[in-house]
Amino acid sequence: MARRRRDDDGRRDLVVVGNGMAGARTVEEILERGGAEQFRITMFGEEPYGNYNRIMLSNVLAGLESEDAIFLNSMAWYEENAITLHAGVRVARIDRHARTVRAVDGSRTPYDALVLATGSSAFVPDIPGMRTAGRGFHQGVFRFRTLDDTRAMIRYARTHKQAVVIGGGLLGLEAARGLQTHGVDVTVVHGPGHLMNQQLDAAGGYVLRRGVEALGISVVTSARTVRVLGEDEVTGVQLADGRVLPCDIVVVAAGIRANSSIAAASGFLVERGIVVDDQMHALDDQGTPDPTVFAVGECVQHRDQVYGLVAPLWEQARVLADVLTGTDPSAQYHGSRTATKLKVAGIDVASMGTTAPERPDDDHIVISEPRRGLYKSVVVRDDRLVGATLVGDLEKVAPLIQAFDRGSPLPEDRIALLFDLGTAPAEVGVAELPDETTVCNCNGVSKGTIAACVRGGVVSLTGVMDATRAGKGCGSCKTLVGQVVEWAADGAVEIDESASWYVPGVPYPKAELVALIREQGLRSVSAVFAALAPGGVEDARSKMGLTSLLRTLWGAEVVDERDGRFINDRVHANIQRDGTFSVVPQMKGGVTSSDQLRRIADVADKHAIPLIKLTGGQRIDLLGVRKEDLPQVWADLDMPSGYAYGKSFRTVKTCVGSDFCRFGLGDSTALGIAIETRYQGLESPAKLKLAVSGCPRNCAESYVKDVGVVAVDGGRWEIWVGGAAGAHIRKGDLLTTVDTPQEVMTLTGRFIQYYRETANWLERTYAWVPRLGIEHVRAVVVDDSEGIAAALDAAVQASVDAYRDPWQERDDPAEPGQFRTALPLTVLPQVPVR
Ligand SMILES: Cc1cc2nc3c(=O)[nH]c(=O)nc-3n(C[C@H](O)[C@H](O)[C@H](O)COP(=O)(O)OP(=O)(O)OC[C@H]3O[C@@H](n4cnc5c(N)ncnc54)[C@H](O)[C@@H]3O)c2cc1C
Ligand code: SF4
Repeated sequence: MARRRRDDDGRRDLVVVGNGMAGARTVEEILERGGAEQFRITMFGEEPYGNYNRIMLSNVLAGLESEDAIFLNSMAWYEENAITLHAGVRVARIDRHARTVRAVDGSRTPYDALVLATGSSAFVPDIPGMRTAGRGFHQGVFRFRTLDDTRAMIRYARTHKQAVVIGGGLLGLEAARGLQTHGVDVTVVHGPGHLMNQQLDAAGGYVLRRGVEALGISVVTSARTVRVLGEDEVTGVQLADGRVLPCDIVVVAAGIRANSSIAAASGFLVERGIVVDDQMHALDDQGTPDPTVFAVGECVQHRDQVYGLVAPLWEQARVLADVLTGTDPSAQYHGSRTATKLKVAGIDVASMGTTAPERPDDDHIVISEPRRGLYKSVVVRDDRLVGATLVGDLEKVAPLIQAFDRGSPLPEDRIALLFDLGTAPAEVGVAELPDETTVCNCNGVSKGTIAACVRGGVVSLTGVMDATRAGKGCGSCKTLVGQVVEWAADGAVEIDESASWYVPGVPYPKAELVALIREQGLRSVSAVFAALAPGGVEDARSKMGLTSLLRTLWGAEVVDERDGRFINDRVHANIQRDGTFSVVPQMKGGVTSSDQLRRIADVADKHAIPLIKLTGGQRIDLLGVRKEDLPQVWADLDMPSGYAYGKSFRTVKTCVGSDFCRFGLGDSTALGIAIETRYQGLESPAKLKLAVSGCPRNCAESYVKDVGVVAVDGGRWEIWVGGAAGAHIRKGDLLTTVDTPQEVMTLTGRFIQYYRETANWLERTYAWVPRLGIEHVRAVVVDDSEGIAAALDAAVQASVDAYRDPWQERDDPAEPGQFRTALPLTVLPQVPVR
């Protein structure tokens, strides 16, 4: 019976304690079932945020994902759905008789229905030295559960360099990998004899260990930590066998414990979690279901099982929403069979069911290739798959999960057929999957849900992804989601409108976007979002493209916003795989002098540059420079830097030309230098590589450049455009042949400007020229068919005039942290020194 309130509108009060993945998902499911008409919803979350994807914290730690990108429900979502969210407020107790929850801020909130979704906390064993008397955890000790934990770890890793991670399960390995990307040396200490012992057998664990060690992470197994050493700062950990591992960071990833203390203190039955029945009612300490109190998520114990993965939580949330809203009052949750598919420290791992044979007549088929980092094992009982473990290659995981979920009989010839289950054509495979197969594990979306969404009229991939959230977690299932959409739409998939947008967050194709930016005089990335993005919402993925476009359109009048730039464009150097940078002194046209060479050699000595390398673009690359050393290296070189990164005009490669070469028909070197000088630093939709050759022997490879110039008989010059010789190979198209270097200069600039104004973000000329057709490009650029030649010339001139040497920022950084220690983007071996 609903309590009466003064503002009674007939709705009941639903209170949800816990604003994590399960709590928020339950509320979403309730809203989908029209729950807003039945309930006034209030949520409490101890964390001071909206709802975020906890799974993605590993990516945030590793620098692969921004914090913004992991939010599932922003604060605006709560407002739009009239949900009262108490973010950053912990509920301290439940008064079951008065049907209220009391929070630590002193508030009391009445409920007609209460959902406990309090999740888990990191389990921290009671190891001496881990905590400092009266002050909680030692400042160098971290857990890995929340956004705040992740932030704290990142901050600390900036100034500390050696970590021990206690625990070699999924979380420990993810923490180890994440820390390593911050330049920290990591050792994982694991109690059992092999890594991820809960999911893998010993042989699989061994293969994983080899993979992890190959990344440079040390692993110590069968080891127990007995003490954390150090008074003010952590100095090491001591193991039970007496060994001491020196370190200044300790991360504890030794397991999780359900947050069930408020339930226990309020008279509910708590064992390893809050005990619930099949309708998610919490049981009281007499074992009787409380009709008004429910629990969902990781804090729950259902039929003796506690789940630590999201897929089961989604199933629980659906059942609970059915029950609460009365959509299906008889809905029941019967437990989940968990198949785990993970990327651990960059290594693919999947596991389901048992890891090893349990009965004498269980079949166990194992393929183990430690040197290739591959391990596959399946356990078959009575012709059914009861367990599988895969490390390093998940190609066959979908059919294995399917066979495991369905309990379907397996073929006779196990080795040949079992490992070939996935080789059927994709459409057949998709058609055969049962509706209840989970396609997206992160968001718990089944094939049936996707198909229903398509049948409901959403026939584009992004539309389905938005509506169902399939593919919007870790993204690893996106291909499969696309296949299901295609299958369900029977091939009639709508081409996404957004595919024609210049950037994903602003819904206009480039031409319209350019017109609007000009009309409205939008000179900063944030102004573009405010004026043109739906709801004025900023989108991190769109920032770089918009920055480039604005600079193309406004030159020096752009309002520079540094967060709109990629790291390379912020520090004006090319980030390398180990997080160091490369410095490329400018050598226009590939020409240098003994003085420059001497200076380069001196700088290399002074800064102990690990690697000096000639580039494909006729320059010298000084590799392995730390971010904080960049300003000094530039200062010591006292030479302009060359553009070796970013989406901009790069180099002009030249051959010897008529000055020295006996075949030379034109002075290719001088023309190349002139072009490079004029257009240096110009932003463009993608990089631009040019070349000038002194004769058709083409020693500078001009036919395969974005713009290639070739001297021909009679003192004339051919201009070739849209060539490529990288991952994509294409001979350019002849744009025109002209009589003078001056015409080359003008037409090159006009071509580049036309490309800058009309190409899509990241579209190279080798795609853009064929898209428009060389005849069209020629008509506009050479014959001025659209009457815009003068405007293009003027626009490129304005950009040339606006050029400012970005390396001057060495003396006057644009932002305080510009040249602070670099955080490597991915964990990879150091740049090799030969
Ligand atoms: C780094 C990391 C990586 C992971 N990777 C994977 C993965 O790859 N695949 C996978 O399936 N799972 C993964 N998981 C596990 C997954 O995140 C959890 O299963 C899931 O978040 C549990 O959801 P939940 O809502 O039950 O708990 P949580 O998401 O923990 O939410 C509970 C919320 O309740 C709040 N709360 C607790 N007590 C109170 C109180 N008294 N008052 C108010 N608020 C309270 C907490 O602050 C918390 O925000 C990962 C977890 C972590 C930490
Ligand atoms: S392209 Fe012609 S001019 Fe240039 S170096 Fe080769 S042969 Fe000589």
